[in-house]
Amino acid sequence: MKILVINTGSSSIKYQLFDMRHESVLASGVAEKIGEPLGKLSHEISTASAAGESKKTVFQGKIDNHQKAFVQIADLLVNPEHGVINNKSAVAAVGHRVVHGGEAFHSTTLIDDDVMAAIEENIPLAPLHNPPNLTGIQVARSIFPDSVQVAVFDTAFHQTLPAKAFMYPLPFWLYQKERVRRYGFHGTSHHYVAEKCANYLKKPLFALNLITVHLGNGASIAAIKKGRCVDTSMGMTPLEGLVMGTRCGDIDPAIPFFLANHLKMSFKDIDRLLNKKSGLLGLCGTNDMREVIEKKQAGDEKAALALEVYCYRIKKYIGAYIAALGNLDALVFTAGIGENSPDVRMRVCEGLDGLGIAVDPRKNDTFITRSTEVNSSASKVKVLVIPTDEELKIAQETQKIITS
Ligand code: ADP
Repeated sequence: MKILVINTGSSSIKYQLFDMRHESVLASGVAEKIGEPLGKLSHEISTASAAGESKKTVFQGKIDNHQKAFVQIADLLVNPEHGVINNKSAVAAVGHRVVHGGEAFHSTTLIDDDVMAAIEENIPLAPLHNPPNLTGIQVARSIFPDSVQVAVFDTAFHQTLPAKAFMYPLPFWLYQKERVRRYGFHGTSHHYVAEKCANYLKKPLFALNLITVHLGNGASIAAIKKGRCVDTSMGMTPLEGLVMGTRCGDIDPAIPFFLANHLKMSFKDIDRLLNKKSGLLGLCGTNDMREVIEKKQAGDEKAALALEVYCYRIKKYIGAYIAALGNLDALVFTAGIGENSPDVRMRVCEGLDGLGIAVDPRKNDTFITRSTEVNSSASKVKVLVIPTDEELKIAQETQKIITS
């Protein structure tokens, strides 16, 4: 069975075509700068000649809109030179990443007109993400009319949060009328690594208490009790919680008033400051963790401070989530920084021996490409590094729903 996974942004479409027999990627790519004067479509296919080998082609030129981008992608997939399938109907299903499912969606869902309407209703909660996601679905429906369309929501895994974790202490009508509450994001990744962790530990997920730490450009942490997510750091939007590449995470909610009243900043400027100019970038001038570490090693004090603030915030959340869970079986690091930075993992876990967490510096300091244990033999809690694969998880969820 072939499943196409689509992640549509405001000016981009990322795609991966999976052969679910071996869960292998046949083709992948990204159309970027859609609507801009010079667009780019990078397309890669795995070649049959040798396992792991691929051929990459880059096409440049104006891509007018998402419809045109999708037509180009679909044509490439069936192209004799660049393609991997004979015709479009070979794609059994298209799995769409949808950012905000609000309270309507607790799991992966077959898309029909009612589902489209419900995703549209959630636009006020995710004004930047849900509209392009909807466009992606509409265009995919027209280009792959024989394929089933499936929505996989970033928020769905966190819908098990109890009210005590998702309610903000604001006037109750804001929740009742406007659905202002915590939702959480990165659910696909947290769910994927939680399942991988259960496989690694050879225990059912429902028997485990886990903390999963997703550290990419965006970052979030989740507390998973007996397989169900009970708390997570992102809130109504992805701005809450951990320190991120360019987002501030938790701050005093009165700071925006200070910025408006004292510095006369507009809402738009405040939004931009908190989402795009804060986090690591705000503290030390770069949002790329590799550069932060390089700068720190070269003696840059701001970079050293940024790293400390970043890791301290994660450490505090781990402490809080151990309290929420009662006891912890495993702590899982994932995504770009979680998978690749021994330094960050070490700093986060430093001094947590009292909570049963101890990292082995030698095991931690290795290049990790698959589920790996980095805790010391004395550690009560397993500390694991598990590479995430959100696209594969979307493909798996899509397959599950169309074969059930
Ligand atoms: P995205 O959220 O865009 O998918 P990724 O999961 O790819 O992000 O993570 C990007 C982050 O991972 C960047 O901050 C990058 O610097 C960091 N990263 C990648 N490799 C390393 C490394 N070897 N050491 C430290 N950080 C790394």
